Amino acid sequence: MSNRTFTMVKPDATGKGYTGAILDQIIKGGFSIKAMKWLKLTPEQAGAFYEVHKARPFYGELVEFMSSGPIVAAILEKENAVEDFRKLIGATNPAQAEEGTIRKNFAASIGENAVHGSDSDENAAIEGAFFFSRLERF
Ligand code: ATP
Ligand code: MG
Repeated sequence: MSNRTFTMVKPDATGKGYTGAILDQIIKGGFSIKAMKWLKLTPEQAGAFYEVHKARPFYGELVEFMSSGPIVAAILEKENAVEDFRKLIGATNPAQAEEGTIRKNFAASIGENAVHGSDSDENAAIEGAFFFSRLERF
């Protein structure tokens, strides 16, 4: 079990001005920030990040959405980080997300769902390394 996960505040949420409130909920949820940046992905970069979903019918839509506006990328630390963060963000579809979760509070649809959270320790490490060099992680 690793104590780190990777997250993005997605373009729907940055565009609606929810960045501060989402980061506040993450910090109050017990996570500390180990790396962070604000940037806009190109379609090529978004496509590479979500390469695992290439065969899925929503891949084109997902790449277009994730490159449509700025995101916040961050590495977070907490005991049992991956699992606890998935609990904090709630189900992929906000309509099925539990009350009080970030997606319930801030997401509008299954496609535009406010935040990303890594689904395993292995992917957390891969995703963190996609955005941050060794010099940018503390
Ligand atoms: P994420 O990886 O972003 O944390 P997740 O692990 O809850 O989300 P995945 O199955 O990995 O869900 O899907 C990745 C992303 O693709 C979703 O967060 C969402 O933005 C988009 N997505 C997933 N399913 C659909 C769908 N049926 N229609 C449109 N977009 C979808
Ligand atoms: Mg996922």
